Amino acid sequence: MSLPPLVEPAESLSVDEVRRYSRHLIIPDVAMSGQKRLKNAKVLVVGAGGLGSPALLYLAAAGVGTLGIVEFDTVDESNLQRQVIHGQSDIGRPKAESARDSIREINPYVNVVIHNVALSNDNVLQIFEQYDLIVDGTDNFATRYMVNDAAVLLHKPYVWGSIYRFDGQASVFWADHGPCYRCLYPEPPPPGMVPSCAEGGVLGVLCASIGSIQVTEAIKLLTGVGEPLLGNLMVYDALEMSYRKIRVRKDPQCAICGENPTVTGLIDYEDFCGAVSDEAAAAAVGSTITPLELKEWIDAGKSIDLIDVREPAEWEIVQIPGARLVPKGEILSGDALAGLAQDRQLVLYCKSGVRSAEALAAVKAAGFKDAVHVQGGVVSWVRQVDPSLPIY
Ligand code: ZN
Repeated sequence: MSLPPLVEPAESLSVDEVRRYSRHLIIPDVAMSGQKRLKNAKVLVVGAGGLGSPALLYLAAAGVGTLGIVEFDTVDESNLQRQVIHGQSDIGRPKAESARDSIREINPYVNVVIHNVALSNDNVLQIFEQYDLIVDGTDNFATRYMVNDAAVLLHKPYVWGSIYRFDGQASVFWADHGPCYRCLYPEPPPPGMVPSCAEGGVLGVLCASIGSIQVTEAIKLLTGVGEPLLGNLMVYDALEMSYRKIRVRKDPQCAICGENPTVTGLIDYEDFCGAVSDEAAAAAVGSTITPLELKEWIDAGKSIDLIDVREPAEWEIVQIPGARLVPKGEILSGDALAGLAQDRQLVLYCKSGVRSAEALAAVKAAGFKDAVHVQGGVVSWVRQVDPSLPIY
């Protein structure tokens, strides 16, 4: 299925612009009218991170006239392995400003609009309204569902991508002409089931593989060239170096774009997706200690069994002294329960406190009533107790 161009052509290109875009202009399918459409286009990129970095760079180079950036975070050293729009000297700067400076260096004809805010129900519709097309580079489910719902409510198309370790996915969602994200994924995964990239890692160059698919789809939609990924999910496996296209149909039962929608406006997305499961949240109440409290227990010689519930690769990077490794999966499956100390205080920790809360719920259910977990995990331990250790 092909779609008409999303954007009307701009009146003209300057002599400088003709020189700059000459390799586009001599492609018959793009030509002068396609490039003028790009010049007239307003594209919003949500997130200037892993996917947003290559997306912004190539959208800018391609000559998209107006590029919006939604991003409130600052550049961190651990971003540079994949967020190639930022550089060493940008560490500590707002990502949106760093991205704008890189774009200006690549293409001074792009009008960059910075939205230095966290996308929320209060601003998402007003921001999206100003653009023809959204490119979603978010990394969490709450924002993903919010982006989808806002796009459906405003009848706008968007290009979605996601990345994890060696695997990537991309698609185009546009409820007016095909499925939306909720047609593909009606429910978010249970909290704690799907690790984020911060927990599970991502091969840096995977961002370029998926980000470039997103930009390709954006250009096709804006100019009306080719067949968009609408109604198809692209699944990329970097280890096998395979791309698979899977058909996605519009779901008549879809909560927002189906025949009898139950979602007719924005909802509470944090609540819908949940940072931790209800069981984990309940288990953590009254059973959470701070890193400083743990330090006091260790210094006082309290008898504790300190369990690190992360994965072996994370354990290799940094540990709390005196801990031993029992990955969360072995606790949830029950395999590791027999090996936990019965006669000592059980203390669980992970990277940030989410996985340890899940494990805490499991050990409490198995009878370890006094077990506790460490708020903020090993990252907070490093920040509050021993800043000489690395964090990741
Ligand atoms: Zn839908």
